[in-house]
Amino acid sequence: MDPNDQFLEGTIMPSRRRFVGAVATGIAAGTAAAGALAAGAPGGTDFGGVGRDPDYPKPPFPRQQQEWPGLAGKMTPKPDHGETSYHGSGRLKGRKALITGGDSGIGRAAAIAYAREGADVAISYLPAEEPDAREVAELIRKAGRKAVLLPGDIRDESFCRKLVDDAAGQLGGLDILVSNAAKQHSVDSILELTTAQFDWTMKTNLYANFWICKAAVPHMTNGGAIIVTASVQAYDPSPNLLDYAQTKAAQVAFVKALAQQLAEKRIRVNGVAPGPIWTPLQVSGGQPPEALDTFGADTPMKRPGQPVELAPTYVVLAADESSYTTGQIYGVAGGKGNP
Ligand code: NAD
Ligand code: MG
Repeated sequence: MDPNDQFLEGTIMPSRRRFVGAVATGIAAGTAAAGALAAGAPGGTDFGGVGRDPDYPKPPFPRQQQEWPGLAGKMTPKPDHGETSYHGSGRLKGRKALITGGDSGIGRAAAIAYAREGADVAISYLPAEEPDAREVAELIRKAGRKAVLLPGDIRDESFCRKLVDDAAGQLGGLDILVSNAAKQHSVDSILELTTAQFDWTMKTNLYANFWICKAAVPHMTNGGAIIVTASVQAYDPSPNLLDYAQTKAAQVAFVKALAQQLAEKRIRVNGVAPGPIWTPLQVSGGQPPEALDTFGADTPMKRPGQPVELAPTYVVLAADESSYTTGQIYGVAGGKGNP
């Protein structure tokens, strides 16, 4: 069944009348419900506002491994995507955003933040991630915004085109694209890196990014923002991420070239280069299990970032205030790595 139908039937989604009511109660309703969902977030604490000093988890972490693509809901400790800790202030009021990989991790943090900043949000994800995606949809709707769920495999070009068209169709337009979905699988030696994995990584991180951005441009004729999630791996590659690091370097070049093409259309194209962030990608093959014990320990902050710590960067790059910012890569990496 189409996941959106189920919400509309009222099993998770409130009825239309209640939905309109939720708009009236706005952010307050969102925050309360989010609190319930984020009970497992680190400390469940509301840090809010300027000068927050998040006491986020530091290594060592409990040994864990999930089957790819992994679920945020099954991680220990649970990542903080902003469920209780992100507060919006209307910076994206009325905007319409598509976020690939918006079910978990950095994409989920962007989805929650965008909704609380006043945007309607469509997310793409793999069918196996339905439980994570439904939590995100509920958070978006509790913020009083429209949520659209678009499951499917972005390694398929025709799906990518349909994804963007469906997002724009169901949202009533498209102003913001966050191209964020990716595949990362650790392999120690080039001799063990198979063509099948190399192809999988390229298809997900490069081809799909190209297909989705290409499909989005015609929808963005009145100006818009494209944000690509790259990585510090573009600048400071790890030996066990030979295929993945290449794709992240290529995404940086993609952002810088496309930004020049689209400047006259008033479409801005920027990227984000996160450092080590506590997400399902890392516990479902992205790192060897033993490396996870000390994940993030080699940064000056001596801990991984939480997805919510990326949210403000995705908001600022999407917002109209950044009208002179294009072709840039913003780093969020705990003090280590470029740019
Ligand atoms: P994540 O696992 O939460 O998100 C990745 C998402 O990609 C998945 O949720 C999944 O929905 C999507 N995806 C993967 N393959 C797909 C496919 N074939 N079809 C459809 N969707 C697919 O992990 P994350 O760490 O939040 O990753 C988000 C982005 O952040 C990625 O681009 C990743 O490269 C980048 N990044 C992550 C880190 C980190 O340490 N976690 C560091 C630097 C960059
Ligand atoms: Mg996921």
